[in-house]
Amino acid sequence: MIGLIMHSARPITVFRMTLFWFLLASVIFPIAATAAEKRYTVKKNDTLTEIARRQGVSVATLMRLNGLKEPNQIYIGKVLRIPIPDRRPTAKRPTLDPTLLKVLGDTRIARKKWKYIVIHHSATDSGSAKGMDLYHRQERHMENGLAYHFVIGNGKGMGDGEVVIGQRWTDQIRGGHLASESLNEQSVGICLVGNFDDNKPTQKQMNYLHALVDYLMRGCGLSGAAIKTHQQINPIHTRCPGTKFPVKTFLKEFPAPKKKAS
Ligand SMILES: [Zn+2]
Repeated sequence: MIGLIMHSARPITVFRMTLFWFLLASVIFPIAATAAEKRYTVKKNDTLTEIARRQGVSVATLMRLNGLKEPNQIYIGKVLRIPIPDRRPTAKRPTLDPTLLKVLGDTRIARKKWKYIVIHHSATDSGSAKGMDLYHRQERHMENGLAYHFVIGNGKGMGDGEVVIGQRWTDQIRGGHLASESLNEQSVGICLVGNFDDNKPTQKQMNYLHALVDYLMRGCGLSGAAIKTHQQINPIHTRCPGTKFPVKTFLKEFPAPKKKAS
């Protein structure tokens, strides 16, 4: 973003200012403008609100992109940067299989119950929901078995990207995946099979994780702020889901809502 000093142009200096901005813009914008932008020169009687409406963008976006502190900081001849909405088909965005969606649809979500969606790895190279269920029952003595609500396979023990819906989800009951009773009560647990201290999750796992989180956010009425890794939310330090889980890039896909100014 280029910081331009704003002047409120008085009538006498309008022409000079216009010429100044025109020249400056012609020097700067070929460099600054990206492929997803166009330019618009402010005309007589234009308001930022009206320009935004015509261009199909928000006033806030225009202000941010053009470094405006107030919507009225425009004047005739000012060249505005206008973002071009991304009209590429959203088909690339991962989606859940229709059969899985149908099964998911059978569960009536206790919307008020869930506050977080927490991501784990199994910390094992291979694994399955069945194996984890057995382990949690027999070794960890959890009467409800599988501690997570969902498991996503990595092709070793379960299909690559295969999503298994756990009993705790269909029953809408607490998980057993966090070191806090109250957090377990309100956190949906998703476990990706794999040891992400050694290897990255597979692309299919990430795609289905994305789609599942998307579904859960909508179903539970949560924002991006609700998505946490085990490490981020656990009261006791844990490496889970491993150093090679792409935390930043994944969370960036689910922006948290901006705080409202009080
Ligand atoms: Zn974990």
